Amino acid sequence: MSMETVRIEGIATPVSRIGLGTWAIGGAMWGGADDASSVATIRKAIESGINLIDTAPVYGFGHSEEVVGKALLGIRDKAVIATKVALEWPGGKVRRNATGARIRAEVEDSLRRLQTDRIDLYQVHWPDPRVRHEETALALEKLWRDGKILAIGVSNYAPAEMDGFRHFAPLATVQSPYNLFERAIEHDVLPYARRNDMTVLAYGALCRGLLSGRMHADTAFSGDDLRKFDPKFRQPRFQQYLAAVDALERFAQERHGKTVLALAVRWILDQGPTIALWGARRPDQLEGMDAALGWKLDAADLRQIDALLAQHVTDPVGPEFMAPPARPDPTAPASSPKRAAA
Ligand code: NAP
Repeated sequence: MSMETVRIEGIATPVSRIGLGTWAIGGAMWGGADDASSVATIRKAIESGINLIDTAPVYGFGHSEEVVGKALLGIRDKAVIATKVALEWPGGKVRRNATGARIRAEVEDSLRRLQTDRIDLYQVHWPDPRVRHEETALALEKLWRDGKILAIGVSNYAPAEMDGFRHFAPLATVQSPYNLFERAIEHDVLPYARRNDMTVLAYGALCRGLLSGRMHADTAFSGDDLRKFDPKFRQPRFQQYLAAVDALERFAQERHGKTVLALAVRWILDQGPTIALWGARRPDQLEGMDAALGWKLDAADLRQIDALLAQHVTDPVGPEFMAPPARPDPTAPASSPKRAAA
């Protein structure tokens, strides 16, 4: 099945509408990683028609970018590299930093780790409430004019924040949590992207593996795996999500002869100017990819899916647990409450 593609202003190559997410490839927060398997996964993605590889400096504190760079040696031009900027991790504690100085330093680190002379899509990972949009946007715009990055995106931004940013630099994409279970952006970011000709990179396409259809009530996570503290994976809520996955699997099989995994990815692709970011760290995890391509869900399907979700997930929860804190405000009183670092 041939890959569906989308054009992103500034990037000459058509971009695949399924992107490979490489957070788990960094190891940290995913119970460790096997680099040989990670390299094989990235190479298999490219061979299968995925050219968009999404990474970030913070994924494994540089490790994900290094592995992406290694996997793409000799085939760099077949890939569209999307990485991110504007988080820092002093002492291993992740927090936001979208200052111009941080951006100028980070881009050089990313280029070195990725073993490339350009980043195709450079995204501000999280908005930084301590820095004016003007400073962040102008720093990125300078990198764009210098040819170090080909297109600018943001991630986890609300429409008002994108408005602030776009005053100073063009935005091609926004990356947000979006999957069958996490749909908050339908109220704001998705319509905003449609109105402003932006592409939405939907992250967590499989809801951290829940929508793969391979999880059970006794699925256990090891080491520092973030699903140990993801509220969706805690009982009694976990059972609701698993029941919804079972119902969606039956629906997908009966109506379309597909798996729930193919349905979950297809559903994202049918929502508009979207790219589904599929996190994988073993080549076999990409095997179901073809089944998501070349067909469409109709209006009756979408209604039925919504009915199944409402029936089974009666106590939904979003992905907010992942948000990193801002840097401390030096002017705040010492007693002000602190948010936990994700
Ligand atoms: P995801 O795509 O929803 O789920 C990834 C996990 O699902 C994999 O690590 C794997 O877990 C499991 N999986 C994948 N394919 C499978 C298959 N065929 N069968 C069974 N299990 C399968 O989650 P994600 O990685 O968090 O999100 C995707 C990407 O979005 C990330 O990698 C990252 O690039 C991006 N992202 C961005 C942000 C942001 O703030 N901008 C936040 C989150 C994610 P196991 O290997 O443990 O089985």
